[in-house]
Amino acid sequence: MIKFLDLKKITESHGAEIGEAVSRVIRSGWYLQGEENRRFEQNFASFIGTGHAVGCANGLDALVLIFRALIETGRLHPGDEVLVPANTYIASILALTETGLRPVLVEPDPRSLQIDPGQIEKAMTPQTRALLTVHLYGRCSYTSRMAEIVERSGLLLVEDNAQAHGCRYGDRRTGSLGIAAAHSFYPGKNLGALGDGGAVTTSDKELADTVRALANYGSAEKYVFRYRGRNSRLDEIQAAVLDVKLRHLDEDNEKRRHIARIYFEEICNPEVEIPGKELYFGENPEIPAAVDSVFHVFPVLTGRRNDLRRHLDSNGIQTLVHYPIPPHKQECYSEWNGMSLPVTESIHDRELSLPISPVMTDEEARTVARAVNGNW
Ligand SMILES: *Cc1c(COP(=O)(O)O)cnc(C)c1O
Repeated sequence: MIKFLDLKKITESHGAEIGEAVSRVIRSGWYLQGEENRRFEQNFASFIGTGHAVGCANGLDALVLIFRALIETGRLHPGDEVLVPANTYIASILALTETGLRPVLVEPDPRSLQIDPGQIEKAMTPQTRALLTVHLYGRCSYTSRMAEIVERSGLLLVEDNAQAHGCRYGDRRTGSLGIAAAHSFYPGKNLGALGDGGAVTTSDKELADTVRALANYGSAEKYVFRYRGRNSRLDEIQAAVLDVKLRHLDEDNEKRRHIARIYFEEICNPEVEIPGKELYFGENPEIPAAVDSVFHVFPVLTGRRNDLRRHLDSNGIQTLVHYPIPPHKQECYSEWNGMSLPVTESIHDRELSLPISPVMTDEEARTVARAVNGNW
């Protein structure tokens, strides 16, 4: 049986250090807003390459806190338009509607599956103030073209880095490329806690202070409430666990890249497309710098998804679909249900995610590739 993601094995791979960290917090008698958070925030900020990191309860909160802070500091106003990829996890869009901003759904590039810079320019109106880019599947969505558009039009760039901890753009990391970035430490993410967790990274001190206050009931000073805030905390046990896992993140991501390389080399079924294959590892001579990915997900596309899924399942191989229904076809956004976004819809109709993780073996990856190449 090849699991989609073996969380038990992932935790066990750093088990002794995690166990020690958890016992330390239990023994300390201090469970919120303490030394473990301070240490992890410092280490995470320095890993990402920003001046500040602020822990919070989860990735959705991290996004909401960023947009609320941009509004509280006068940089965005309710009703402003924010560009966001149409093919993202629902949380990216929920954060915008929850804070009174207007999401404008932008089609992805069918090769990279990331927001298409050419479509960004077409979607802009005089009300457009920000771009929420999502490094979907762990792949860097930031490009020199995007940088140039953001610069020229004065858009605020916010990153949803929930799936891409450790991913690089040149010598920088995703999460340090815009005004602020949201991170999720949901257990299945590349940097996953043993429960919920999240963080905001930014080099803007005013924004960091505002996010911290908003996450603490709107208070920077005890019993003095400047904003109508919320309670969104990263607990000390999770911070201690994350600090251990952060030390191993680059090596764990390298193991994911190794599994991805086996898939790239060995999957050769004409019915299966590996989107963006030529963009990774600098295989395309027209693209001088290879685009980095930390392979949170390994997506393949096929017109016969159900057949492939059933075939893999009968070979003991678990798969998932990221995601079966795009945001604009969801009941919670019924006002968009009539919209046509053909690239996004075609990805959602054909995507299948193969198992990938730092604890998978080469033999397991070869077994998956052989099964994909078989008859189904
Ligand atoms: C997981 C995820 C989130 C939300 O994170 P939670 O910690 O589950 O709230 C947001 N955006 C993307 C792209 C995600 O994958």
